[in-house]
Amino acid sequence: NVRVRFAPSPTGPLHIGGVRTALYNYLFAKKHKGSFVLRIEDTDQNRYVEGAEDYIIEALNWCGIPFDEGPGKEKGYGPYRQSERKDKYFAFAEKLIASGDAYYAFDTNEALDAHRKDHEEQGKTFIYNWHNRNKLDNSLQLSAEETRKRIDAGEDYVIRFKSPQAELLELEDLIRGTVEVDTSLLDDKVLFKSDGMPTYHLANIVDDHLMEITHVIRGEEWLPSMALHVMLYRAFGWEAPQFAHLPLIMKPVGKGKLSKRDGDKMGFPVFPLEWKDPRTEEISAGYREDGYLPEAVVNMLAFLGWNPGTEKEIYALEELVADFELERVHKSGAKFDPEKTKWFQQQHLHLTSEAALVQPFQEILKEKHLDFDDAYVQQVISLVKERAVFVEDLWEQGHFFFERPKEYDEKAAKKAWKEDTGEIMIHVSKIVNDTEDFTAENLSSNVKDWITSENLGFGKVMQPLRLSLVGSMSGPDVFEIAATIGKAKTLERIRFAIE
Ligand code: GLU
Repeated sequence: NVRVRFAPSPTGPLHIGGVRTALYNYLFAKKHKGSFVLRIEDTDQNRYVEGAEDYIIEALNWCGIPFDEGPGKEKGYGPYRQSERKDKYFAFAEKLIASGDAYYAFDTNEALDAHRKDHEEQGKTFIYNWHNRNKLDNSLQLSAEETRKRIDAGEDYVIRFKSPQAELLELEDLIRGTVEVDTSLLDDKVLFKSDGMPTYHLANIVDDHLMEITHVIRGEEWLPSMALHVMLYRAFGWEAPQFAHLPLIMKPVGKGKLSKRDGDKMGFPVFPLEWKDPRTEEISAGYREDGYLPEAVVNMLAFLGWNPGTEKEIYALEELVADFELERVHKSGAKFDPEKTKWFQQQHLHLTSEAALVQPFQEILKEKHLDFDDAYVQQVISLVKERAVFVEDLWEQGHFFFERPKEYDEKAAKKAWKEDTGEIMIHVSKIVNDTEDFTAENLSSNVKDWITSENLGFGKVMQPLRLSLVGSMSGPDVFEIAATIGKAKTLERIRFAIE
């Protein structure tokens, strides 16, 4: 029974890289009819940010990838916030002390910094482990009694993992294959801190075990922790989950990881939803507020590091569930492409039914104090949707369906409106008026018949007609426009243009 978890720390808004991690977990869980768990890793109270957890949950919901289990969705493995599980971890750290897989250490930060600096000056990396502790002057291996004494005397301590002296670990990653790690190069990581809180490593492993997680799917930045995590499972005598480390998301141009600064510079959001930082009040843009459809964002993220191995690029969520395979996730970094994101948006907007776009478009019309019925709005959408990337573009492309042109494009007017145009338009008005069944087809054939009979040339009639109705030379078929706004408004606009 597949169980995966997304385990963010609520230290701020979820970056799109985090959303992608959540998405891949979701896809994998759904594909295998398993469970997608949300666990909030908030043991580091110093980095806790107000509102971050709510943001994460809202973002997952907006993307359409809700969790099955997590805060507020208790399924027997909770609580799902580590701060509410505080009392569980110390016993596990003690277990490792008892088995000899962990030890108390009393080094002060100053002493550790001094060692680090010392090593640096000699061009060496500082590796701190049980086996070389004797060589570091003030951190001798201590006997059990001495340790007790120092703890009882109230000295600050941490509990560290005792990594094996020299072992070649062969770690299996579902994306990267076998990864070899030499344990002599590893630090003995802190598992438990003097403030009574576990570190990420201990809490993460204990919870993955207690929550019966089968697959750990997370970002590449956690690959260096995999050795410690596998060793922890071994020390506890637990079966380890399978690991899959996802490739980094890279800058659109240049080298390195995608950052918020790239987005600021090039004008694209790196967050799913807008975020207002509670400390600085600074607002960061989000895909939702920028008018993106969640389907488009999900499709784009799915392809940041994965592809199905076919030409197919446009995917609905259910199709992603069907085709997604961890084995097809790439090892190398995935370049973020803001233009491609827009392209996905355009494709998904076109896939969205006209009926489904009515409400969001009505919102925009309401803001402009325009009141039109849904059927009319849907008719307009069907005429202009093709040119739109965002719902907002529907206004850009079709505003003249809702209001008379306020001004006429100067260049176009110069070109279209000649001396004899007024007279021509008076005649067009007559044809409009005489067209009984006012459809685009009828009007078109009546106007065209007249143009042909008068030997006028199409541009001489069609251009000023368009200018009168639209205000510029853009828009869909001019007879469709006339038929949609109706006879009365068509006549009114022509009259207005003549004057
Ligand atoms: N809390 C870690 C994070 O914020 C979780 C890493 C993991 O998935 O193991 O990314």
